[in-house]
Amino acid sequence: MSTVDRRRLAELHARERAAFTAARPRSQALAEQAKAHMPGGVPMSWMVKWPGDFPVFVDHAEGAHFTCVDGIDHVDLCLGDTGAMMGHSPAPTVEAVTRQLSRGITTMLPTEDAIAVSTGLAERFGLPFWQFTLTATDANRHAIRYARHLTGRSKIVVHNYCYHGSVDETFATLGEGGETVNRRNNIGAPVDTSETTRVVEFNDVEALEKALAHGDVAAVLVEPALTNIGIVLPDPGYNEALRELTRKYGALLINDETHTICAGPGGFTGRDHLEPDMLVIGKSIGGGIPCGTFGFSQEVADRIARSIELEDIDVGGIGGTLAGNGLSMAAMKATLEQVMTPAAFEHMVPLADAWADGVQAGIDAVGADWHVTRLGARAEYNFSAQPSRNGQDAHDADDFELQQYLHLYALNRGILLTPFHNMALMCPDTTQADVDAHSAMFLECVQELFA
Ligand code: PMP
Repeated sequence: MSTVDRRRLAELHARERAAFTAARPRSQALAEQAKAHMPGGVPMSWMVKWPGDFPVFVDHAEGAHFTCVDGIDHVDLCLGDTGAMMGHSPAPTVEAVTRQLSRGITTMLPTEDAIAVSTGLAERFGLPFWQFTLTATDANRHAIRYARHLTGRSKIVVHNYCYHGSVDETFATLGEGGETVNRRNNIGAPVDTSETTRVVEFNDVEALEKALAHGDVAAVLVEPALTNIGIVLPDPGYNEALRELTRKYGALLINDETHTICAGPGGFTGRDHLEPDMLVIGKSIGGGIPCGTFGFSQEVADRIARSIELEDIDVGGIGGTLAGNGLSMAAMKATLEQVMTPAAFEHMVPLADAWADGVQAGIDAVGADWHVTRLGARAEYNFSAQPSRNGQDAHDADDFELQQYLHLYALNRGILLTPFHNMALMCPDTTQADVDAHSAMFLECVQELFA
């Protein structure tokens, strides 16, 4: 098995950093200018974490590509980390949104589109009732609030190294003794997460039952496959065990499909016929226009209706002024009905397989002890010989320095990968040529790295 020579990696990385800077004078100038009023020169702090010495400024994006302010065309395999999973500015969404823009953007009253959107979501995901937010984060927060309210219990169970947006309860990991501790860099935690949360490893049914058996768990919030610490697939029967045990112990099961929607038109839930009490999704369903939603069962709807007074609604911790606005609704209607179709997945999933095959060919060519994991329209490589079975495995397989180098190498050749891990996502506009470009680039990259 080949291993990475760290000195060689550092030399190659220095070369790529210089090449990046030389090719992007306009981005560099804007990045300098942007520092005057934005820390790090970016509108949101994550954007400093891209590879290269400054972020790439985008001029325009269309379909599966974007062009930066230096005029360089890029294959976009990040797609706004799923926000643009339906391609940049899909035509039906743009048309619907453009129409709505001149008909009122937000009124805090429903528009007719809301009926079509909720009906479509019910058919797609199998849950009858839907409420809307502006982000998946907020949808998760609301789902958690309802779960606590309905059960009268305090604890939320999550998976080790999960990510569900900036949701306080979820920034927890397993400590060395199996206890729940604040995740590293949990900024300004309102209370210690051990008070709100119980963490279990993905695929650990025994630990799950132990966590639930305390009888104080309001909800188990999960991705049906982890996607934010690398992709970790469920063992056969794991999602079913989640369902069975949450029922047994009276906790609600919330499936967060924000990323796992890549598994198919109904997400992982639809593909595997899962039966959560609540389902959360955001990002992609509005074609990039801010929106999020959470769906719930008849039983949950009845329990909510029985337990909440109309008078308490506006200050009850659920809702948002812009949530369910006409623009988001128009975007979701067009995207769900015309873009996020079964035909789109029939195009995207084989391309993700082809991408994974290309990466595997590169790995085999140099004998690296890395592996590739596939999940519908998404795939990812990781720096361990075996697929990870849980969050800790996936976390331990990470190699930040190596990852930054590989991402920068790709970026310098006009290919953008999802930051923080080695993930690629296909959209309806991605082509075989885009995938081939990545395969050729990846092979050259690892051949040089392991030479
Ligand atoms: N859930 C999952 C599974 C996510 O991956 C993310 C974001 N990466 C979110 C929720 C939160 O999405 P947002 O930041 O758009 O609120």
